[in-house]
Amino acid sequence: MLSYDAFLVRLTELNARIAAACAASGRAADAVKLLAVTKTHPADAAVFAARGGLAAVGENRVQEAAAKRPLAAADGAAGLRWELIGHLQSNKARLAAETFDRIQSVDTEKLVRHLDRAAGELGRPLAALLQVNAGRDPAKFGCELEDAPRLLEVALAAPHLRIEGLMTIAPLGATPEETAEHARRTFATLRELRDTLASRFGVALPELSMGMSGDLELAVAAGSTCVRVGTALYGAR
Ligand SMILES: *Cc1c(COP(=O)(O)O)cnc(C)c1O
Repeated sequence: MLSYDAFLVRLTELNARIAAACAASGRAADAVKLLAVTKTHPADAAVFAARGGLAAVGENRVQEAAAKRPLAAADGAAGLRWELIGHLQSNKARLAAETFDRIQSVDTEKLVRHLDRAAGELGRPLAALLQVNAGRDPAKFGCELEDAPRLLEVALAAPHLRIEGLMTIAPLGATPEETAEHARRTFATLRELRDTLASRFGVALPELSMGMSGDLELAVAAGSTCVRVGTALYGAR
C-alpha cells in the first residue's frame, strides 16, 4: 500500500483529469462522482478515501468487503458508502444486502428476487444499478442488451429495490486504439439504452456508472455520472 501522502497526490491528479474531461464535454465539474475501487487493498485504502473527502468505495467481492468495512469504520471511515461492483451470486445476496449501500452488478431476474427479499428482511430499501454487457464481451458479466428491458421491468416491480441506473465495463481490444474504440462504442450504447429505457418506462435512471482508470475520459464524454477508479488511485494490484 502506498502512503496517504502519495494517495493524496494521485487523488489530486485524478480529480484534475475528471474536471478536464467534464470541461471538455461542457459538463459541470460535479456531474461525475468518483468511486474509489479498493478491492485487493487493505482496509486502509478505504480509510484514505474517506480522509481524502470521497463519499464511496467500490469492492468486487462480498466477503472481502464484509471483512474490511468494520475495520475502516473503526478507523474513522464510518460515514463511507460501500458499493458492490463485482459479480454477485444469488446465494450471497443476503450478505451483500447487509454489507453494501448499493449493488452495481444486478444482472439477472433471479438476483433481483434474492436481493429484494434480503432487503425486505432487513427492513430497508436497497439501491441498485443494472449491469449491462453493452460491449457484448463474452468474458464479461452483465445482462445482454436485448434482455435489459425485461430485467428493468422486473427490477422496477421489486418493492425493496431502488433502481438508480445502469453500469457497464468496456471490453479490452488488442491495441490501445482498439480498446479506445470498444470503450467509445460501449459507453455510447449504454447511454442510448438508458435514454430508451427511461422514456419507455417513464423513470429517470440518472446514474450511468462507466469508466475506469484507463478510459474515464471517454466515459465522461459519453455521459458517465460515476467513474470507478482503482489503479490510478492506489497503484497496480
Ligand atoms: C477493478 C474494477 C474497476 C477499477 O479498475 P481500474 O482499472 O483499476 O481503475 C472498475 N470497475 C470494475 C467493475 C472493476 O472490477
